[in-house]
Amino acid sequence: MTSSDQHPEDQHSADRAHDHSGDSSAEPHPALPSITRHADVAIIGGSAAGLAAALQLSRQQRSVIVVDAGDPRNAPAAAMHSYLGHEGRSPADFLRIARAEVCSYGAEVLTGRALDVARDAEGFRIELTGGHVLRARRVVAATGLTDELPEIPGLAEHWGTSVIHCPFCHGYESRDRRIVALVTSPVGLHALPLLRQLTEQLTVVVHGGVPAEDPQLATLKSAGVPVIVEPVERILDDDAGRLRALRLADGTEVPADTILIGTRLHARVAPFAGLGLAASEHPTGIASYVEADPVTGATAVPGLYAAGTLAEPTLQVLPTAAAGGRVGAMISFDLAQEDLEAAARPVAHAADWDGRYSGDLQWSGNPNGSLVAEAAGLTPGTALDIGAGEGGDALWLAEQGWRVTASDISKLALERVRAEAQRRSLPVETLQTDANAAEPFDRARYDLVTAAYASIPRTPDARGVTNFLDAVAPGGRLLIINHDVSDIRETLSTAEPESTRPFDHEAFVGTDDFVEALTASPEWEIEVNERRERPAGAASAHHVHDVVLRARRLS
Ligand SMILES: Cc1cc2nc3c(=O)[nH]c(=O)nc-3n(C[C@H](O)[C@H](O)[C@H](O)COP(=O)(O)OP(=O)(O)OC[C@H]3O[C@@H](n4cnc5c(N)ncnc54)[C@H](O)[C@@H]3O)c2cc1C
Repeated sequence: MTSSDQHPEDQHSADRAHDHSGDSSAEPHPALPSITRHADVAIIGGSAAGLAAALQLSRQQRSVIVVDAGDPRNAPAAAMHSYLGHEGRSPADFLRIARAEVCSYGAEVLTGRALDVARDAEGFRIELTGGHVLRARRVVAATGLTDELPEIPGLAEHWGTSVIHCPFCHGYESRDRRIVALVTSPVGLHALPLLRQLTEQLTVVVHGGVPAEDPQLATLKSAGVPVIVEPVERILDDDAGRLRALRLADGTEVPADTILIGTRLHARVAPFAGLGLAASEHPTGIASYVEADPVTGATAVPGLYAAGTLAEPTLQVLPTAAAGGRVGAMISFDLAQEDLEAAARPVAHAADWDGRYSGDLQWSGNPNGSLVAEAAGLTPGTALDIGAGEGGDALWLAEQGWRVTASDISKLALERVRAEAQRRSLPVETLQTDANAAEPFDRARYDLVTAAYASIPRTPDARGVTNFLDAVAPGGRLLIINHDVSDIRETLSTAEPESTRPFDHEAFVGTDDFVEALTASPEWEIEVNERRERPAGAASAHHVHDVVLRARRLS
């Protein structure tokens, strides 16, 4: 989307032509009408693998929508280790940084859950919680794994803190302390030599699954490691709730500061079952996983790729991110080849907006109230409406005597503008372009450049913002009307994956970005920068305030 795109969430606005919600109050979480979004690539799972794929793809100018339910496998751990450059950072902090990087290229990360992925003649169709639908040319499954812990009372309470699964991830933090290696299967013997290097206070407790005469146990005993073959009855805590000991079936208590266990890993494949994708048993015997090409990530389902631990269960976070980046690159090749063979060069995000303008009228056709108020005192000249949509603002400006160019990324939106202009005998030019393109608008041509709720995907160089400013003639005005993001953030802070919000405002240029650019330039003077209540009847269920920014180009 871009030059002409009205903000997706404004679909819920009560000034929409067909407001399915029938609710213009400011209730905290009313149900949103269902929305269909379109992207080149839908990524299910927004942790290390999914976000790395998104970064790669968005930098190839592909539109990307990530859907993430917010429970990465390492969430119980306070810190993430062995990730060069992020050593010791919390998993949540790492994902916050990664999300911001992805959004800086206009990729969206929706908090929500994919329920079902299907395929029809139009490509993939993904049902999201909240009733929304995502359409995509390619899908990345990056849903990761879940851990099944041995059923021992008291164990789960310490999972991710003093019950650990991997000497590389958290062994160092337990060095020189009392570590109990709790063995439940032959695979559990694999890590034991590593633990001996971390502490002299290692005890091995064989809960089951391994014969007492296993040669590795004999080797450990010979090296002086106590080995106890006895089932564990429960885990004991001290008065402060800290791990204290393991109580065995024979009543013995084995003191411990840390317990290392092996878990059974399960591939999260449920959303892909309808496509016929099933999990297989991993050769290590510790996990179910999705079989995928080790280089491209392609699965047996054409167009569906698997990335990260879903396809390679033993990976830590750093190689998971590398794998996600690799799969993102391979999908970029795949899409590029398909477009080459079709002699097409689709503009990222255009399909999303054409999808929206292919059905019912989206808007009321009335001009934005703030535009009417701000433009009333100006002498009509040349005007550019960016993200014109169906042209409510552009047509009103034309009626006031402005020579208007209505610009939008969607050709279908502009067809509506032209039809309405013809019906009302108004002279409105149309310009189909991407506001993030290289010089999409004539420089210094317009006395007024206006945009109401335009959704311009971010780029790290803020190219869209520069394009807006460059289009204004010396002495002309820039008028930006946006939703107040603090209202949106407030709603999002309590968002649940069970009710996907169908847009991610962090991926779009905000009013603050314009203010920053205007303030940095001596050519501009900000005349108005105000938070205003949306006019009565226009307040959507999710935005109660607008921010109106008007600036004058001095030279
Ligand atoms: C307790 C613990 C601590 C760990 N500590 C470390 C460490 O210190 N260092 C290290 O390198 N590795 C560590 N790991 C391993 C690390 O967790 C994984 O390598 C990493 O999380 C794998 O990333 P991923 O992207 O493949 O999957 P995940 O991180 O598991 O992410 C999958 C994502 O998909 C989302 N999802 C799932 N289903 C859906 C759906 N239907 N719709 C939408 N979204 C969905 C989930 O919400 C989740 O956010 C640890 C693991 C555990 C269990």
